[in-house]
Amino acid sequence: MISDRNITGLRNDRRILKGANMSELFTANNVEEACAFLRKGCIACAGGTNLFVDRHHGKYADRDIVSLHRLTELRSIAETEDAWQIGSLVTFCRLEDYFLQPAKTMTQDSGACGTAGEEKSYAVGSEKPESVQASAAAAGRAEGVEASAAAQKSFDGKSSDSAKTGLFGEGQGCAEMIGTAASLVGGPQIRNRGTIGGNILSASPAADLVPVLMALDAEAFFQGTEGNRSLPIRELMLGPGKTAVFPDEILLSIRVPKKRGRSLFRKVGRRNALAISVINAAVYLETESGMFTSAAIALGSAAPTAVRAVHAEKVLAGRTVPTDEAAWQELQNRIREALQHDISPIDDIRASASYRRKVAGNMVCDMIRALA
Ligand SMILES: Cc1cc2nc3c(=O)[nH]c(=O)nc-3n(C[C@H](O)[C@H](O)[C@H](O)COP(=O)(O)OP(=O)(O)OC[C@H]3O[C@@H](n4cnc5c(N)ncnc54)[C@H](O)[C@@H]3O)c2cc1C
Repeated sequence: MISDRNITGLRNDRRILKGANMSELFTANNVEEACAFLRKGCIACAGGTNLFVDRHHGKYADRDIVSLHRLTELRSIAETEDAWQIGSLVTFCRLEDYFLQPAKTMTQDSGACGTAGEEKSYAVGSEKPESVQASAAAAGRAEGVEASAAAQKSFDGKSSDSAKTGLFGEGQGCAEMIGTAASLVGGPQIRNRGTIGGNILSASPAADLVPVLMALDAEAFFQGTEGNRSLPIRELMLGPGKTAVFPDEILLSIRVPKKRGRSLFRKVGRRNALAISVINAAVYLETESGMFTSAAIALGSAAPTAVRAVHAEKVLAGRTVPTDEAAWQELQNRIREALQHDISPIDDIRASASYRRKVAGNMVCDMIRALA
């Protein structure tokens, strides 16, 4: 199908995918080559966890594939004082290791978690013993089972609650939210193969990392045959399976600013493991002198794309943090009401729209209370 024989990867790595409409699988040796393959009509394959399910259902069945697995430069996580730059090929496993157990000496993944690769030492908050952090993360996850009365009725919620542990320094509350969302994706096989880039560019309304990245104001960096550009994650998704990405663009990395507030991710699914979110939510809060000074709320599985709950955020802006139950109830009612303008869930095989509306309101209110 591809006629330009000047692409090195094409000459070196031509293979036939047996039984799949004779699509060809190529391997790019660098990002420029990957972009060139995309321009010729290939589709990119990162972990392949979504792509091959899609192909099984006939989507992209006639497209040649360019594998990105040789682009090791997209597998790293770089940390500066004010941000993390996460390579698009970083797997969920690696995110979990990196962001949930930050005091550990990590190994760059080369396809599988904990396998050989370039060693990277990552130590933040050296006063925190590794075992305490691991148990703090576990405690956060267990606590999430109390997501809401509605959620408890038939589903389990899971969460990361760094605010309660008090163990994370500036910005590190955000770190734990990234790690926890990654740890709750699919099962071990999916987390071992699936990448943050694939999670974003699948543009599934239920993608677990997307609300987290939206709530943290993350930005995506792309390279195409015409040059480089960046886009805020919240402007990337146009609809289910649709993004603002050009066909010849490779997602290089995601920049997540470190923030000084506290954050929480929760997911409600039909079971504890291997469950696509019925509703998921990420909440980021800053408070100062008894006031809400910054709030970011993002939800997944609640609209055609993950969304920022701007109406609910406005309710909190500049407001006093309630000090008694009556004030909390009044605030929660206003948040629940505002949230209904932010989301437009549908009935599907996993849950009804009305259930999603109710659980979304309960979850977000619980999360705000937990963080305030
Ligand atoms: C059994 C199962 C359970 C799952 N559970 C969950 C879950 O709980 N939560 C959840 O969020 N998701 C879940 N998923 C979905 C999936 O695993 C994730 O979305 C995953 O992140 C996809 O990443 P990938 O690397 O495998 O992407 P791929 O399948 O390789 O690619 C997905 C799409 O992104 C494009 N793409 C990928 N990387 C790039 C790049 N760098 N540049 C340009 N384009 C790119 C591909 O062309 C393709 O269109 C599940 C999937 C399965 C099969």
